[in-house]
Amino acid sequence: MKCTILVVEDEPAIAELISVNLSFEGYSVRRASDSLQAEAFIKAELPNLIIIDWMLPGTSGIQLVKKCRNVERTKCIPIIMLTARSTEEDKIDGLESGADDYVTKPFSPKELGARIKALLRRRSPELTDDAVTKCGICLNPTTHSITGNGKAIILGPTEFKLLHFFMTSPERIHSRGQILDKVWGDHVFVEDRTVDVHIRRLRKALSPTNHDKNIETIRGSGYRFATNPTKKN
Ligand code: CA
Repeated sequence: MKCTILVVEDEPAIAELISVNLSFEGYSVRRASDSLQAEAFIKAELPNLIIIDWMLPGTSGIQLVKKCRNVERTKCIPIIMLTARSTEEDKIDGLESGADDYVTKPFSPKELGARIKALLRRRSPELTDDAVTKCGICLNPTTHSITGNGKAIILGPTEFKLLHFFMTSPERIHSRGQILDKVWGDHVFVEDRTVDVHIRRLRKALSPTNHDKNIETIRGSGYRFATNPTKKN
């Protein structure tokens, strides 16, 4: 899944360095040079991760992080704080404001890349390229291939994303709205029923190996990937 990263940095050279490196690593990069621009961008399209510089003109990076954490839509978004400050106290301030991680300038693009990967792995495993194996299903995002008990399973792109999302958060119940946000993106306006259509297709594709049972309907709540399915759908 293509991961969108918003870089909020007012120094053009640093913003450029980060963008070039992240684009090279396969991320889709957006840039904002101050908090206002960043907020406008977030309003239009929720990124998967935000890198925020501490010292920004106008609203500071710390204030922007706090704002993000106070709004339902951005409450859980992974955030990395970027800054030249490096005293212990400043670090604590940065983390207390709600940032997930903290990278001190000057940093190597390689280090930032590693921190991003670690954070995504922790917070949004469905966005990483790590292969996932559960209940005899092996899903490999890099080769875009799936097998069920060793047999190839062919899935359309949406069903692939859906299964990847389910397998990286097993047992957890997801509402149709949450599934739409995570799989289709929150700026895409499609009806909740669309989810049901794709669930049906996914189950059909998984049925030859009986893995359709792992996709459970939770009446009145949504769907989940059950590692120990109990009922028949
Ligand atoms: Ca700055």
